[in-house]
Amino acid sequence: MVLLDLGKKISNAVNGALNNSNDDFVASVDNMLKAISTALLQNDVNIKLVSSLRSSIRNKLINGSSDNASLPQQQRKNLIQKTVFDELCNLIDCKSSTVQEFKPRKRTSNVIMFVGLQGAGKTTTCTKLAVYYASKGFKVGLVCADTFRAGAFDQLKQNAIKANIPFYGSYSEPSPVKVAMEGVAKFKKEKFEIIIVDTSGRHQQEESLFEEMIEISNAVKPNQTLMVLDASIGQVAEQQAKAFKESSDFGSIILTKMDGHAKGGGAISAVAASQTPISFIGTGEHIHDFEKFSPQSFIKKMLG
Ligand code: GDP
Repeated sequence: MVLLDLGKKISNAVNGALNNSNDDFVASVDNMLKAISTALLQNDVNIKLVSSLRSSIRNKLINGSSDNASLPQQQRKNLIQKTVFDELCNLIDCKSSTVQEFKPRKRTSNVIMFVGLQGAGKTTTCTKLAVYYASKGFKVGLVCADTFRAGAFDQLKQNAIKANIPFYGSYSEPSPVKVAMEGVAKFKKEKFEIIIVDTSGRHQQEESLFEEMIEISNAVKPNQTLMVLDASIGQVAEQQAKAFKESSDFGSIILTKMDGHAKGGGAISAVAASQTPISFIGTGEHIHDFEKFSPQSFIKKMLG
């Protein structure tokens, strides 16, 4: 999984500070912070975030009101471990966000719209989410509103058939807004409880793509908009998240390709920049390679 290397480096840095027989508490904390910061920067985490993490850990351990340097060895160790853990969780947790977690209700239609650039993993993730909600007892349908990319409907159709999820799309209708509206209306009429709308991700952040997102959103009035973000793209993730946030004001992020190896830190910075929580992560190409995201268990897993 992405970030395991980073996790190992951070764990090593923490262990170095814990095992330091040298009594110079300040020096060992500073050495640890230096190693943690280098690891985060190498993993593409934004420099501002790294420096704010560094000062908050330092403040809690050294500049705080209590004299942690004189604590017994074991308590000192516990404090260092807990402080680093909590601050790493804060980095990816959007506690200050005003966005409430989306909880779909049964016996009513909840429309979920996906946005994101082509290749991010939208179509794959739509089916994963559909399977997730179907397993929770919801009646789920998939709508393909990507009329731009040849083969998009076939891809969604194949995934949906494999997963046994009803789907809607068109080979002839060129307007994505029309297809989205028709699909949502059909599933609403048939009392589907979760209606997932896949959209186009064509072009690199071109105006037309964002206009299309706004039009589809106005037409289907989603209860939840999800942005799908490829975790392996590094620092550009931040810029991408900002651009989509302006047009589609998504309520949550799904990070895909967390099973890859590169640059997961960029995506973490994107999450922090957009102050939008991550709801799920994709950990592979298969339907069940999908997990609900929790900052605590994610950091725990990352640190090993
Ligand atoms: P879209 O253009 O955004 O709809 O992207 P697709 O759903 O077509 O996915 C693009 C590629 O990424 C496909 O080869 C998917 O199998 C792959 N993919 C999607 N999610 C994941 C993931 O979590 N892990 C891995 N390894 N590959 C993924």
